[in-house]
Amino acid sequence: MRLTLATHNEHKVSEFARLLSAYEIVGLPAGSAAPTEDGDSFAANALIKARAGAAISGGPTIADDSGICVESLGGAPGILSARWAGEQCDDAANLQLLIDKTEPGDRLEYVCVIAYCDPRNNTETTVEGRCNGIRAAEPRGSGGFGYDPAFEPIDAPGRTMAELTGDEKDLISHRGNAVRELSLLLGRQ
Ligand code: IMP
Repeated sequence: MRLTLATHNEHKVSEFARLLSAYEIVGLPAGSAAPTEDGDSFAANALIKARAGAAISGGPTIADDSGICVESLGGAPGILSARWAGEQCDDAANLQLLIDKTEPGDRLEYVCVIAYCDPRNNTETTVEGRCNGIRAAEPRGSGGFGYDPAFEPIDAPGRTMAELTGDEKDLISHRGNAVRELSLLLGRQ
């Protein structure tokens, strides 16, 4: 089955293609419009992207929205994770802000919501995956991306997400957990 992933990011397309190998994952056509992500939750933003993608593809379409939530900061940066250090910031600036605003051992959570829309039968639904961890004493590792060097998953004690292989990360990550929920959902369609 062909599943459109509502993104123009080829890295994301290949990541989802690896996680959902039973499906043909295709991104949106280059140059197609991207909607404004002005929702107030991961689910709202994932749905905004999936609906807009489904309007373009005309068939089953998924979109994800994800981020990191810091317990001691009341869940921030949450949906603002990608631009926490500023509109034009990069991963390194966001990671440094996390280090500056937290202490080693502080509780962290990665969240990923995947929205699924099928305009052929007016289906709209979301699934969610989470991954709990703590703030590492110092950033370590070169794998993954974003906040991974500072994130020690509860399920991989003593190592940061950036010190895991891609397969190890998929087994415990918020995105892996959300995709496993999505697979169950798609199996029931
Ligand atoms: P988006 O879901 O592509 O909008 O990404 C949201 C942001 O959350 C990313 O830019 C990262 O800053 C952060 N993030 C989401 N998932 C991960 C992850 O697996 N590792 C590290 N950072 C992540």
